[in-house]
Amino acid sequence: MKIIHSIEEMRLYLLGVKKAGKTVGLVPTMGYLHEGHLTLMKRAKENCDLVVTSIFVNPTQFGVGEDYEQYPRDLKRDGALAEGVGVDVIFAPSTDEMYPKDYHTFVQVQALTAGLCGASRPTHFRGVTTVVTKLLLIIQPDYAYFGQKDAQQVTVIERMVEDLNIPVTIIRVPIVREEDGLAMSSRNVYLTPEERKEALVLSHSLIEAEALIKKGERKSEIIRKMIEQKIGESSRAQIDYVAIVDGKTLERIDLLSGKVLIALAVKYSKARLLDNLLLEV
Ligand code: AMP
Repeated sequence: MKIIHSIEEMRLYLLGVKKAGKTVGLVPTMGYLHEGHLTLMKRAKENCDLVVTSIFVNPTQFGVGEDYEQYPRDLKRDGALAEGVGVDVIFAPSTDEMYPKDYHTFVQVQALTAGLCGASRPTHFRGVTTVVTKLLLIIQPDYAYFGQKDAQQVTVIERMVEDLNIPVTIIRVPIVREEDGLAMSSRNVYLTPEERKEALVLSHSLIEAEALIKKGERKSEIIRKMIEQKIGESSRAQIDYVAIVDGKTLERIDLLSGKVLIALAVKYSKARLLDNLLLEV
């Protein structure tokens, strides 16, 4: 496995790969890899001749006062894990390489980024779409893999790729969970042991929501209240949002029908956790 830090070297390397007619899969990450990331990489390995994973803690997607400085980083450990699942190249540029001093360009998706995480993190998605555009232009993959864990993110990226006619196929990979149901996240390391136990209310409330819907409940207000009540049982939890939205437009809905996304963001002192359920009603 190769580790490449410069954009120029990455481009040169891929020139040879493309000339040989090989398909390229990209898995963008911020590193501190876990089984969720590795599942994306395994999917890429199944579909593509060459798998590139980028590891870059992208400063432009962090707001003022967020955890950019504290975000866990360990390239050595990540390298071993990525190599273990067959990743061919790690692209790990420096911040200066991606955003030199005179950098001024941003990519922004409207509407889809206004609600959910965009409401409390107003500059977040602009940073995500900008860095993903740069990565797609540098690597020019045939396929790029994103997790359903960040449901709004993958929806925004699908929109961006379609709107900007970027020639890549986006693959959504289902949420990978710990054995007890907690959605895997690099930020789970911020949880204290007590918070880690309590954080199960996220996945449990979604399981209960699904059961309610299976029984015939269609009113989003009733489902939302049940979820809020369930999360309220965790005294350390601070709800950012519990949202029931159309799975495509991400607009709030009163009655469930078609593709529905139930999305949660909950804060535990240092960790802001996400979880969601995407279902066809
Ligand atoms: P991150 O390093 O957190 O930016 O995540 C990189 C990619 O991995 C994103 O596409 C995430 O949605 C995806 N991802 C992170 N956690 C999970 C998970 N538990 N299950 C599936 N995908 C995940």
